Amino acid sequence: MSKRDYYDVLSVSKSASASEIKKAYRKLAIKYHPDKNPGDNQAEEKFKEAAEAYEVLSSAEKKQRYDQFGHAGMGGAGGFGGGMSMDDIFSQFGDIFGGGSPFDSFFGGSSGRGKRVIKGSNLRIRIKLGLKEINSGVKKKIKVDRLTNAENVTFKTCPVCNGSGQVTRVSNTILGQMQTSTTCNNCNGIGKVIDNKPAGTDHNGQIKKSETVEINIPAGVEDGMQLKVNGKGNAAPFDGINGDMLVLIAEEENDKFIRDGQNIHCEEFISISEAVLGTSKEIETIDSTVRIKIDSGIQSGKILRLKGKGLPSVNNYGNGDLLVHLNIWTPKKLSKDQIKFFEKNLKDKNFSPAPKKNEKNFFEKLKDVFS
Ligand SMILES: [Zn+2]
Repeated sequence: MSKRDYYDVLSVSKSASASEIKKAYRKLAIKYHPDKNPGDNQAEEKFKEAAEAYEVLSSAEKKQRYDQFGHAGMGGAGGFGGGMSMDDIFSQFGDIFGGGSPFDSFFGGSSGRGKRVIKGSNLRIRIKLGLKEINSGVKKKIKVDRLTNAENVTFKTCPVCNGSGQVTRVSNTILGQMQTSTTCNNCNGIGKVIDNKPAGTDHNGQIKKSETVEINIPAGVEDGMQLKVNGKGNAAPFDGINGDMLVLIAEEENDKFIRDGQNIHCEEFISISEAVLGTSKEIETIDSTVRIKIDSGIQSGKILRLKGKGLPSVNNYGNGDLLVHLNIWTPKKLSKDQIKFFEKNLKDKNFSPAPKKNEKNFFEKLKDVFS
């Protein structure tokens, strides 16, 4: 069977906007959802087909490739091979339906029919962390405005559907009576409507309340990571499940250290005398100091690797390293005697550069660092 065009599958034009594509997919996902069509293989195929089309058309990069090469552009590495599993499709729903998936009740494995369980919407916050906090992990107390159900809100059974969330219509046709069930419009399938709505609450009987939430941030997180704190989002109206809190990690820049995954880079300067004679130095790490030995005759640009002094991995795979880039500081003002000393040595063989083969060049050193 040849594959249908993704735009045809979603019944949208090639110039459809992202929100039009999302809307079209939402409609099909609801229509062909397996829980709505038990045992109907054709519906399942349509459900999968729509999910696949959406997967491609909702990604700017995949969409561009598809527009250019058609289905042929979707195979191969990083492409879109043999369809999606049901798990993939359901995991997409978080994006499509926001916090309040109409299928939450189905996912719960409960009755699978009838009343909708609603979930509050997610709260999104951004937390800025310094390297020290990332290194140790940190507890943060964050003030958020959460939607909560106001006191004294009361609900009553929806008079239109009598609490079932579904409306059954019977119509007469030439074939006899036909019965169709649809979601109740009056209560959106919840089965309840608001009865007493105290002043100051919104149409769901909710108010915004300032709350302090404690968030445990594990060590090793990275800029752009998102943590989910279950149940700390907005409350669901009508006694549903709380939404989640999504915490976006933002990393503060550091004056001294540069992060490269779990490794940390820093720069240290030593004097010409120290480089010539060798020395030992106190080096600052992210959370303390460490004394290192610098051999006599060390070259500028040498990178010292301090094993395990980098950042921990968020998955507990151990620490990265601290890479100290050594620079030799050239004095700018010299006394007459010092100038004489250096002039005397200008032609001295000991002072002229003579790198040995085993003294790696700059590019080899970099390769070593990033391997
Ligand atoms: Zn109703």
